[in-house]
Amino acid sequence: MEPLMISWLRKRMMGRDDGRGLGASYEPAWEPILEKNTVLYGGLCAAEKERLRARTVEFLGSKSFEGCGGLELTEEMMVTVAGTASLLMMNRPGPLFPALFTVLLYPSVFRARHVEETDSGIVHESAPETLGESWESGSVILAWDAVRPGDRNHTPGQNIILHEFAHQLDLDDGAEDGAPKLDSREAQRTWAEVFREAFEERKWMRRMGHRCVLDDYATTHPAEFFAVSTEVFFERPARLERTFPRLYSELKRYFRFDPLSSAEEDRN
Ligand SMILES: [Zn+2]
Repeated sequence: MEPLMISWLRKRMMGRDDGRGLGASYEPAWEPILEKNTVLYGGLCAAEKERLRARTVEFLGSKSFEGCGGLELTEEMMVTVAGTASLLMMNRPGPLFPALFTVLLYPSVFRARHVEETDSGIVHESAPETLGESWESGSVILAWDAVRPGDRNHTPGQNIILHEFAHQLDLDDGAEDGAPKLDSREAQRTWAEVFREAFEERKWMRRMGHRCVLDDYATTHPAEFFAVSTEVFFERPARLERTFPRLYSELKRYFRFDPLSSAEEDRN
């Protein structure tokens, strides 16, 4: 089925099709959506909430949404994705996911077609079932029932939106390698050292059969390690800080935010 292009929200906000943030404003009806569906939102201070709202407006004014697999888009869906993704850029300067143009939403698990060519020229095609994907070509694809807290495929403590948008940040420097664009060579060196050490430790824990706040999937690739660490940084900050204090501290510096100041659950 052809994806249904829906840009009514953008049109409504802008009153024009080519608008990029011009004239957009925050709607009071979005507040309960962020309260309910965006992790940590309720615990943010007034200034952070203000910045998150501004980023949400910017997101909705600059990215397109498409409902796929028969999904009819609602305001709740778009505000949930925009608000949660914006948490990653709430305190960071610079453009908002500049390489991203479209968010595709499916009702549930979907199959994404992958084509890979080996060095010897053999082409492999596959279409695994998945709940989320982030593509270099400018789109993020999500299963709605894995996004909304409490819905069928949503796993508490995991956050598919934060995961896929962390991949978008990772691509900022042109390579999906577990290191986003950083301010200086010194920052790059520290990041590489801290992440390598934590990645190796996590792989060792997996080999030993130890449980960890970072899901086993984090051990599959440095890019997945960064994406899973980002999810856990926002969803289970206290546990991440206890297990990987240096990793926590790097993420805190990068996101310019300390989730422990906002997290209710993890204070216990
Ligand atoms: Zn991933």
